[in-house]
Amino acid sequence: MENVVIIGSGCAGLTAAIYTARANLNPLVLTGVSPGGLLTTTSIVENYPGFPDGIDGFELMSRLQRQAEKFGARIQFATVESVDFSKRPFWITADGQLVVSKSVVIASGAGHRRLGIESESRLEKKGVTYCATCDGALPVFRNQPLVVVGGGDSACEEALYLTRFAAVVHLVHRRDALRASKIMAERALNHPKIKPVWNSVVADILDPLQEKVTGVRLKNVRSGQEQILPCAGVFIAIGHTPNTDLFRGQIELDEQGYVRTSQGSQTAVPGVFAAGDCVDRAYRQAITAAGLGCAAAIDVERYLAASS
Ligand code: NAP
Repeated sequence: MENVVIIGSGCAGLTAAIYTARANLNPLVLTGVSPGGLLTTTSIVENYPGFPDGIDGFELMSRLQRQAEKFGARIQFATVESVDFSKRPFWITADGQLVVSKSVVIASGAGHRRLGIESESRLEKKGVTYCATCDGALPVFRNQPLVVVGGGDSACEEALYLTRFAAVVHLVHRRDALRASKIMAERALNHPKIKPVWNSVVADILDPLQEKVTGVRLKNVRSGQEQILPCAGVFIAIGHTPNTDLFRGQIELDEQGYVRTSQGSQTAVPGVFAAGDCVDRAYRQAITAAGLGCAAAIDVERYLAASS
């Protein structure tokens, strides 16, 4: 039986792993489908304390993993299929295998929010993408007009990254002001290759019949007017939704699916803790996820000490 199983291997999960490993709890980390989490899809991380010159997101996560393993954490590439928190020890099924554990840290992170239009699904991986650092350098996007959708830090970051390859990047936002932090917004809006398209939403992505992106049909939300904007790719960066469907009915979630916690990282089930983007609807930074992972590890340690 495990002392603690950590579900997820982003900043929160791996920080919980470092702390629980150093507490001699011999943690098992089940990585999920994207080991390292969302940060591995980012380019340079400029605001993680301790890296004045920035650090590549993938490199940061590799270092966290090495640090966790150095202290004895076991990292298993596996996807959790179901959990049963009504039993003690808790049951977790991952890749068809049952794991039982005295405690659990849910650090399942968040996934990309989708526009929810049919052409988006039909053209996914055929020019519609959610990750500029993963896909931006593909030949199909080189020297072409591209569209980024969104007005937050992610959209600015994606747009800035794409200026390396694109002829022009149209930043399509549903309002007339960016939500992004001032520094990111200024960088994006001052870039000669980035052209903002304000008060506009993507009504449709063209052209599923050709099985490639040829443009977007934009609707101005103020005037109702529509226009076709030719482009070779659509990069969607409209925020995230917590990866918590798996836990529905087992612990309490709020109306948007974030895990409800109290007294630190404690979920509605004693012994099950949660940390990172699956909990945090307010800050959603790498460093806050790491901090929440640390807190969850300390809560686990205290819980196990009190229940032994
Ligand atoms: P976000 O801050 O929630 O921004 C999402 C953006 O998408 C908003 O501008 C929102 O519009 C727009 N949006 C949401 N749903 C939409 C829809 N259905 N159709 C069209 N537009 C839609 O998300 P994020 O940019 O991914 O950032 C998430 C968190 O990570 C933030 O806390 C951010 O600071 C952080 N982050 C930081 C960095 C960095 O510091 N370098 C980089 C990436 C992310 P409205 O503005 O109208 O709501």
